[in-house]
Amino acid sequence: MDATYFRKGFGLKAEVKPVISAEYDSALLERIRSRANVDRFGDVTIHLAKDFGFCYGVDRAVDYAYQARHKFPDRRIFLVGEIIHNSHVNQRLRERGIEFIYPDDDGRYDFRSITAEDVVIIPAFGVTIGDLERLRKTGCVLVDTTCGSVLLVWKRVQQYARDGFTAVIHGKYKHEESRATASQVLNYENGRYLIVRNLDEAEVVGRYLVGHPDRIGRDDFLRRFRKCSSTGFDPDRDLAKIGVANQTTMLATESLAIGARLREMMARSFGEDHARTHFRSFGTICSATQERQDAVIEMMSDEPPDLMIVIGGYNSSNTNHLAHLCRDHATTFHIATADCINTGTGAIRHKPELDPHAPEVTAWNWMPAGPFRLGMTAGASTPDNQIGKAVARVLAIRGIEVEL
Ligand code: SF4
Repeated sequence: MDATYFRKGFGLKAEVKPVISAEYDSALLERIRSRANVDRFGDVTIHLAKDFGFCYGVDRAVDYAYQARHKFPDRRIFLVGEIIHNSHVNQRLRERGIEFIYPDDDGRYDFRSITAEDVVIIPAFGVTIGDLERLRKTGCVLVDTTCGSVLLVWKRVQQYARDGFTAVIHGKYKHEESRATASQVLNYENGRYLIVRNLDEAEVVGRYLVGHPDRIGRDDFLRRFRKCSSTGFDPDRDLAKIGVANQTTMLATESLAIGARLREMMARSFGEDHARTHFRSFGTICSATQERQDAVIEMMSDEPPDLMIVIGGYNSSNTNHLAHLCRDHATTFHIATADCINTGTGAIRHKPELDPHAPEVTAWNWMPAGPFRLGMTAGASTPDNQIGKAVARVLAIRGIEVEL
């Protein structure tokens, strides 16, 4: 039996809106927004970035999850992984009886308990073609919330595969979206992919590709990219024609630099004509990620705030990149949720590095004694109420009470 498939919700937006507003909106944030994103509370001036928080893809995914619950109040509902990387939102969904299926270390999901009576939600990141196929075969109701911007990347890498180009994807091989994107090429006979984490890894690939004297050997290459490449990947064969794409939430400047570096190496070694026919690139950072990154760049370049708080899951790619962009300009605290700010002790728990696995640390006496300007932004998976709560907690430490 094939699954029943829904990609546009159930037409219940109006019914679930009051619930979603009650769970995720913030009157305090609305007040600051209405004052051109700058508001003063005692000796603390809050500056909100021009764009921050929930993006269109997350809005839609959360909306569809609530619609699914409303539509099927008595059925088991499962989520493949997390709907988005935000613990607060995920906890709210758990409270509504939605069960999460997490992958093992190799990214494999166990769907054996799913039956035709169940409802399964596909998150905004999408799932691999293999997982989609297995889910279809269960006969369940599938609610697909894959973001349209992710679907655009899929189209791009599918085109690469059709035309005989290996998709070189700037992303994290363990990230659900990168796995799903990479899998799209496997529907094509000679579809290949290689996931590179950053500019350093792209350099390794580029040197191999052009036969640079300092390139690593074939065995080292295969060892290094074993988990990040398609089965049977052969660097001697599969780097001849490459097309660059990226996970939608990477640092835009780094994605551009990777594409430019690989093309430059190819053109310098084999000539411009060769590069024109053997290299393709297409920026697939989504507009929401781009706008949030642009907004913090603007905030940091005008007059950086004294302190910056960036809110979002520690495993949220776009949040990590926002914090990274701020660190060179202002003292920055990347916090997972508002609860990281302790109004009792005045301490703040935060992740001080870009690495999503870096340990959380606690900072004491982190606020200036006198007046200060606090900049705030949040990743695309952070709801307004978490941001409003964080503002209120900062102010509470200063003895300023505000309505949430
Ligand atoms: S960050 Fe971009 S790609 Fe991801 S869900 Fe939001 S809009 Fe879609």
